[in-house]
Amino acid sequence: MGGLCRLRIEDIDPLRSKPDLIDAIVADLAWLGLTYPEPVRRQSRHMESYRATLQRLIDRGLAYPCFCSRGQIRARAAAMADTAHDPDDAPLYPGTCRGLDPPIRAERLARGEPHTWRLDMPAALRCAGDALGYETFDAADTRWIAADPSRWGDAVIARRDVPTSYHLSVVHDDAAEGITHVVRGRDLEAAADLHVLLQCLLALPTPRYHHHALILDPDGEKLAKSRGSQSLADLRQAGVTPEELRARLGFA
Ligand SMILES: [Zn+2]
Repeated sequence: MGGLCRLRIEDIDPLRSKPDLIDAIVADLAWLGLTYPEPVRRQSRHMESYRATLQRLIDRGLAYPCFCSRGQIRARAAAMADTAHDPDDAPLYPGTCRGLDPPIRAERLARGEPHTWRLDMPAALRCAGDALGYETFDAADTRWIAADPSRWGDAVIARRDVPTSYHLSVVHDDAAEGITHVVRGRDLEAAADLHVLLQCLLALPTPRYHHHALILDPDGEKLAKSRGSQSLADLRQAGVTPEELRARLGFA
């Protein structure tokens, strides 16, 4: 399409983001022959921007602090007969903290009680209206897909440890970097519904999306470190060339 490919290091997780993993990504891309403009955006250096974006949602009453632990949410879901699940198969949050009395909420925040921030989905949908959707693209054409963010329920938009989440940061950065086309795996297709909602609430443009089939191992399973899947570095060490790899993936 004559576009420019960008590299972004999504390192909001302070425990899992290690410098040697970032070096490995850079080395793999260089070996593949993919180039991108410098400097590379590192999300861990933009926490203040994410905090400000989160605050905009809080100020408009579209996000609230949730003091529930994961264990509490799981236990509550287990106690109910028919718990609905989100597209990632996590039980939908029942909205326990959405209705907390404002003085109690303020007191728990002032006490520094650990909390995430959740999107108030009913309020967000009222604010965004119901014509949400996005354009997908492939080599042949573009198509309009209607989005249904409600299936995520009151999604976590800021984690306990950082003032952001994958969803909030990616929406913020796609706009900040002027991203027009996003190519990513089908495992993120459902997340696009939430991203479109956040873009609408924050008055940010919606890029076009292409969600491609996942590369599977010979058993038809998703590649995963925990399954001992071959990494790019493994293939490189085994003598596979970038040309062979591209051919294997269906690129000319
Ligand atoms: Zn809660």
